[in-house]
Amino acid sequence: MPTLLIDGKWVSSIAGATIDVINPCDAKVFSKIDRGTAADIDLAVQAARRALHGAWGRMTATERGRIMMKFADLIVKHADEIAKIEAQDTGKPMTVARNDIVAVARYFEFYGSAADKIHGEQIPYLNNYNVQVIRVPHGVTAHIIPWNYPAQMFGRTLAPALAMGNACVLKPSEDACLSGIRLAELAMEAGLPAGALNVVTGYGHEAGAALTAHPGINFATFTGSPEVGVMVQEATAKNSVPCVLELGGKSPQIVFNDVDFDKAVPVIVKAITQNAGQTCSAGSRLLVQQDIYDQFVSKVAEAFKKVKVGTPEMDLDCGPIVNKKQFNRVNSFIDEAIASGVPVLARGALADGISKDGYFVAPALFGAVPREHNLACKEVFGPVLSAMAFKDEEDAIQLANATEYGLVAGVWTENGSRQSRLAQRIDSGQVFINCYGAGGGVELPFGGMKKSGHGREKGFLALEEFSVTKTVVQYYG
Ligand code: NAD
Repeated sequence: MPTLLIDGKWVSSIAGATIDVINPCDAKVFSKIDRGTAADIDLAVQAARRALHGAWGRMTATERGRIMMKFADLIVKHADEIAKIEAQDTGKPMTVARNDIVAVARYFEFYGSAADKIHGEQIPYLNNYNVQVIRVPHGVTAHIIPWNYPAQMFGRTLAPALAMGNACVLKPSEDACLSGIRLAELAMEAGLPAGALNVVTGYGHEAGAALTAHPGINFATFTGSPEVGVMVQEATAKNSVPCVLELGGKSPQIVFNDVDFDKAVPVIVKAITQNAGQTCSAGSRLLVQQDIYDQFVSKVAEAFKKVKVGTPEMDLDCGPIVNKKQFNRVNSFIDEAIASGVPVLARGALADGISKDGYFVAPALFGAVPREHNLACKEVFGPVLSAMAFKDEEDAIQLANATEYGLVAGVWTENGSRQSRLAQRIDSGQVFINCYGAGGGVELPFGGMKKSGHGREKGFLALEEFSVTKTVVQYYG
């Protein structure tokens, strides 16, 4: 089946080339996607523009919302089928994949029901003037998403954009995009008019670069690596259109000596092993107050040893790394740390019966990581946790803020004033207190500070981000 959705029809790429889809559990090719290029992107952008002037652009916000709610119902109805697609494409455990699909439905439910609740403002002005500030869509929006949560990212980026009436062109990751293709089919079944959503599969340097540089787009949003984020920002700057960037993190879990061990340990372990650590908001630095460091870190090590890695069907704690490039990258961080003498405190276990060709990595907990070490500063994007000790509150804040990133932080203390001081002084887009990443968080504004990017997705703020104001001044004297 062709994998480009342009103007409501599934088509092959104009050039006719394809990309192999590889199962990360055994490195075998199991499917193909179309390798879209600039010519396909051009058709998709044109189709989106036509949709804005056609049935999609004429719909009321309520009608848009109803289609999105119907789409959410269809996602729930097909959740098992889509979860299987997602699990095979990414290697993630079946339970995790299924939760991801439930989250996609939630995105369309949340934003579908919000579509007709965005009101404008009226501004008191001169006599005999009526001034309104209304929210309108950007127009054609470009969406470039990564491979770690392909289905969830589909919902996160498209639901608010569609709710606000934009016409979208999605370039999913060449490393995992099959769930997005099935989701797009269901969106059409739900009644989305032709051109409101277009999907062009392909490589980033071809289809992705062509999309962000296309003069017909009005807005772009990107999630992925900092390096590509800069390229997207450059391309959109040349186009004079705004962009939202989410570029990952090196998020701290800050543990004070009054922590409740039993509450904190399982959450901290899950926050780095979930999705095999391939999560932008993974809690990858464990900062522990010196006087409980040994005791607390040994509890984390005990829990780490129990983490099991296997195939989706085994449905264990985590699956493989998504592809060979990332597998080599994660292993090179681990090898480098071991070679430089950083102590390995614990490794998780690989399940019996997995393929030796699969990209499985046993989660690793490193202790006493020097503050300047790569493991303390660089995003590994794998199941690797770096433990470090801090002296007091001031030292904890300095250490927490000591990377280029600022996406998410976890604070573990029962002291309420300290909780508030840390929430205020840590440079990150989200701060969790005595919890971490609770419940998926469709409702919670999300995005970075510093090199983690800019702009906000999720929550009501995404509706503002994916739209623009128009001031209408009427003289009635
Ligand atoms: P990437 O940034 O290369 O890919 C992300 C998306 O951008 C993909 O859809 C890709 O096709 C597209 N892309 C690539 N080059 C492009 C270009 N020139 N113009 C427009 N789009 C382009 O990420 P990767 O190589 O898959 O992973 C590398 C690193 O990125 C990881 O190790 C991790 O640190 C980071 N990453 C972060 C996230 C996140 O959620 N923030 C997700 C995936 C990867």
